[in-house]
Amino acid sequence: MFDNLSQRLQATVKRLRGQGRLTEENMRETLREVRMALLEADVAVPVVKAFVDRIRERALGQEVLTSLTPGQALVKIVHDELVALMGGANDALDLAARPPAVVLFAGLQGSGKTTTVAKLARRIREREGKSVLVTSADVYRPAAIEQLRKLAHAVGVEFHESRADQRPVDIARGAVEAARKRLLDVVLIDTAGRLHVDQAMMEEIKAVHAAIQPVETLFVVDSMAGQDAVNAAEAFNAALPLTGVVLTKADGDARGGAALSVRHVTGKPIKFLGVGEAPDALEPFHPERIASRILG
Ligand code: GDP
Repeated sequence: MFDNLSQRLQATVKRLRGQGRLTEENMRETLREVRMALLEADVAVPVVKAFVDRIRERALGQEVLTSLTPGQALVKIVHDELVALMGGANDALDLAARPPAVVLFAGLQGSGKTTTVAKLARRIREREGKSVLVTSADVYRPAAIEQLRKLAHAVGVEFHESRADQRPVDIARGAVEAARKRLLDVVLIDTAGRLHVDQAMMEEIKAVHAAIQPVETLFVVDSMAGQDAVNAAEAFNAALPLTGVVLTKADGDARGGAALSVRHVTGKPIKFLGVGEAPDALEPFHPERIASRILG
């Protein structure tokens, strides 16, 4: 992830570090390079503008001009602003609700939703020692229900049966009820994904949300979709009170534009990164670590 962006920013940074004095000229050149690097990484245009404006504003302030090493001071600003852009600190899942804590998953088809449900179920069971039940409300693709059943078995969590002739709202309610009766801690609910954002799909997931009142509503999105990922996140964020985003396929995404844009555009934190197909290929999203990785 961020291969190209990282290379370009590191080259810019290296040049700056070697410079004893910052002039208006090399500052302008640096900001131009930062801007180009972000655009090429497919970061959303308004995000690039806001980011570069912030850096310019701070760079012209006292902290850089009075610094003994202005190049390094500017690098620190770029680092800090990258962290801020991605949301600051890691935002963990909030499962502290009275059990069962319900997590609803939303996203387009193929985004990696079902895989993410299994990865997260595994993580919650192993890391937090909580009992987890998963269910699929994807009544349009019986294969999706089967896929989750297999994954649940593979990661050792409970699977709540569902059928294609049931209503998604009833499946979700049934799963929460079953977890309550059996005193399980967490319920993860997978939902149907369409190829594009459409009204019927939004109405359906809104109804599910209203029926079960989840503590977390996570939007799962394929980071490789770049700008489309950001647009989809915006549409779901407008329809549902999302509490966070999971960016999948970060392992295949060389550019990283979605990771840098989603927070700014939606105001919602990226909580996890999917970094592979295996059940353990899920990492908490740490803006600080990612900014350091980008700047080298
Ligand atoms: P859904 O339609 O949103 O439920 O998507 P799936 O969970 O079925 O995932 C679609 C495809 O993406 C599957 O082949 C997954 O193995 C793959 N996938 C999901 N997450 C990741 C990830 O983080 N990295 C990679 N490389 N593949 C992933």
